[in-house]
Amino acid sequence: NDLLLTRPSWITVNLDAIKQNAQTMLKYTGAKRLIGVVKANAYGHGDLAVSEALYEVGVHDFAVATIDEGVTLRQSFINKDVRIILLGVQDVSQVSVMVSNQLEPAVGTLKWLQEAVSMIPAGENLALQLAVDTGMGRMGVNSESELKRLYEFINANDKLLLSGVFTHFATADDGNQNYYHSQVQKFNKWVQAVGIPRKFWHLANSGSALWHTREIDTNTIRVGSVLYGFNPGAPLLSLPMALKPALTLKSKIGSVHQLQAGESVSYGATYTAQVPQWVATLPIGYADGYLRRMTGMKVLVDGHIEHVIGRVTMDQIVITLAHQYPVGQEVTLIGRDGDEEITIEDFAHYADTIPHEIVTIFGSRLPRVYE
Ligand code: PLP
Repeated sequence: NDLLLTRPSWITVNLDAIKQNAQTMLKYTGAKRLIGVVKANAYGHGDLAVSEALYEVGVHDFAVATIDEGVTLRQSFINKDVRIILLGVQDVSQVSVMVSNQLEPAVGTLKWLQEAVSMIPAGENLALQLAVDTGMGRMGVNSESELKRLYEFINANDKLLLSGVFTHFATADDGNQNYYHSQVQKFNKWVQAVGIPRKFWHLANSGSALWHTREIDTNTIRVGSVLYGFNPGAPLLSLPMALKPALTLKSKIGSVHQLQAGESVSYGATYTAQVPQWVATLPIGYADGYLRRMTGMKVLVDGHIEHVIGRVTMDQIVITLAHQYPVGQEVTLIGRDGDEEITIEDFAHYADTIPHEIVTIFGSRLPRVYE
């Protein structure tokens, strides 16, 4: 990877871990089908590499957020029997793009369907996913009568094909049982009353699949986080089984120097050495997604814990060193080194956010290396 030669900060993605996590989840939930959520570049892991790896273990259904993501994925699976779902709200003017790339939009209004029908080219049809809003408040029909209207409209129109019906949970990974159960009840009641067969249902995101396994229909699960091996409910909830983290973040020391007592580091001169100390500069910064608020965070050098000192800058950070190390020494920012490990969950917790946000903000300047 040429980028690595010029600036050695990179992400490694363990594709075997992702495959194993998919198999672990299928086994744990008893699901027959898994929809791999690979939106946002497979949560930063690389959508094409991840979906190809998942395809190898029998995953033939994928979900992305945007039409662009869907088209890219379709091109890599051309002539393969792969279903690609668009989870976000789509502009109805793009219906012909969805038809020609066999992308299945999530639809939640009758108006959208009516407009779409007039745009589907002659002799073609649009497969779609009925979105049911049971409590996320983002998109989808939010009553039984509305669901019925859309379902009947689809059935009465041979240009439209129902491919699925789904809802999304707001509290599956935060322990709020009451809200979760009210969503489950609404979904079950509405789809059953309208008569939508079970083979179309998909409800479980990672939190549901992990902590509500037997409370809902899990014939099909629709998961992201668990594939990448992180715990979506951290630090509140713990995993009921082991998953393998797929991502590591590494860098190499670019320069080593000794600070004298009284000398400071980085913008604002917020860190000042009390005694002479060795420090190193790494070529990674907030423009790569190593957030500015990570000052003080742990990193691993040679199996030992060191810390980020002074302000994180756009392209560089400075870390402590127990003693002098050579330029080129590898440093682990997320991952394991010897007996020590910094998980994505640790990193997210320190940043006061969730792992999903961390993995998706690592920038394109960090090459992804697959192993
Ligand atoms: N389903 C929908 C509609 C989503 O928006 C997402 C992600 O945000 C997922 C499933 C996957 O969620 P998770 O990563 O928690 O499995």
